[in-house]
Amino acid sequence: MGKGGFKITTYSVQITAKALEELRALEEFDLDLKYRAAQQLAADRLIVPGILTDEQIKRVEEAGYTVKVISDLSKVVAERADEVSKVNRFAEVRGISKFEERAVSGYMTADEVESALIDLQSLHPDFVTLIELPHRSWEDRISHAIRVRAGTNTDRDGILFTGSIHAREWGGSDICITFLVNLIDAYINCSGMTYGGKNFTATQTRTILENIDLFVFPDVNPDGKNYSQTQDLWWRKNRNPNTAVGPSTPGVDLNRNFDFLWDSGIGTSSNPASPIYKGESAFSEPETRNVRYLLDTYRNISYFVDIHCYGELILYNWGDDNNQTIDSRQSFLNPAYNGKRGVLNDTLYGEFIPSQDQNMVIDLARRMQESVSAVRGKNYMVQQSVGLYPTSATSDDYVFSRHLVNGSNRKVYAYTIEFGQEFVPSFSEMSNIIKDICAAMGELCLTVSGGEDVQDDRAGRGVMIGT
Ligand SMILES: [Zn+2]
Repeated sequence: MGKGGFKITTYSVQITAKALEELRALEEFDLDLKYRAAQQLAADRLIVPGILTDEQIKRVEEAGYTVKVISDLSKVVAERADEVSKVNRFAEVRGISKFEERAVSGYMTADEVESALIDLQSLHPDFVTLIELPHRSWEDRISHAIRVRAGTNTDRDGILFTGSIHAREWGGSDICITFLVNLIDAYINCSGMTYGGKNFTATQTRTILENIDLFVFPDVNPDGKNYSQTQDLWWRKNRNPNTAVGPSTPGVDLNRNFDFLWDSGIGTSSNPASPIYKGESAFSEPETRNVRYLLDTYRNISYFVDIHCYGELILYNWGDDNNQTIDSRQSFLNPAYNGKRGVLNDTLYGEFIPSQDQNMVIDLARRMQESVSAVRGKNYMVQQSVGLYPTSATSDDYVFSRHLVNGSNRKVYAYTIEFGQEFVPSFSEMSNIIKDICAAMGELCLTVSGGEDVQDDRAGRGVMIGT
């Protein structure tokens, strides 16, 4: 890795709080905590993992929290630096046709992801469309997404997968590219796809690509990925220099920059130094505007999965408060509830979700969960994204809220998948995780394509959607 980065030793830690309010109060410290992986172990014992310096550990302990140091991360940093590809393995035309042998040597860089997408389109121009996104990153990078659409069916749903919106969550891009290559190869070769114990038949892979539009935007935050892979492994945000507001503290948390209760401040920070800094306004960042562009432009997108790590979770809406299915007036659209949202388990406010929508997203999430489990037995939890820690301005809530804000938008069911058990697993473990998540992605695509009817080995479950 670059020289500038690692003078300060960081530690993987677990902080214990006695109550939800104490967990929330940690916000004041602007720490790098993984709130979505917080767990309640007992009535008076909640734990949240994070990455802290010596100085931060001292401050938190002085405030009365218990901090357990899990490991010194210096060694992890050195190891992962060796697992990033040093050359662009996909730079040459048709480099992607050697994907299987080349990808095993390590994590993809931002440049490689771009090359892979361009390669895929040039190899399969008849059914792969390269989409150049309109907004260049702060470091002037051009991003692409891809649409895969085979066959002649004109009435089809789109599914959008996004990866690596958080810089250090490298593997999201590797998952997305692997899934694309596997599905396209299977289609070309009239074969199936196998991920451990999970199998998709040749008929099923064909059904998927001939009956849905598959959109993949594998690397939403290329500046961030590059910075994380070369300067500071634990970098989370983009590389907005924040010149006007905080020039010594660059970066906006892209997953707090979407237009969903952005003003509320729930689970976000207005301090540029914070890892969850929400930016100067909703969609102030080119990277989030690129995601919005895809939804605005490709109006048949009906499902969305934002791939993050970590926690082994499949999360569904909402993230700002507990769900309720009774009172439709308790809605993010209703300013009468400003200030009442974002408090868990109270009677003042719960975010409304129609029960049929909630049942639908949970059912689909369970299908993905079962597919992950079939690969090698990993047990991902399906839960509402609010968890123990409410958030606002995240991608999944923005995407699902679009049809409620504007009735001409299609309803898009949205998920966040949190893969694995750490931000940057060893690449050998990442290779297993790629299979886990590709199985879930395949299952979602298959269900939406109506392909569950094809060789349905699970009689009685029927097809929920796409019919
Ligand atoms: Zn993330």
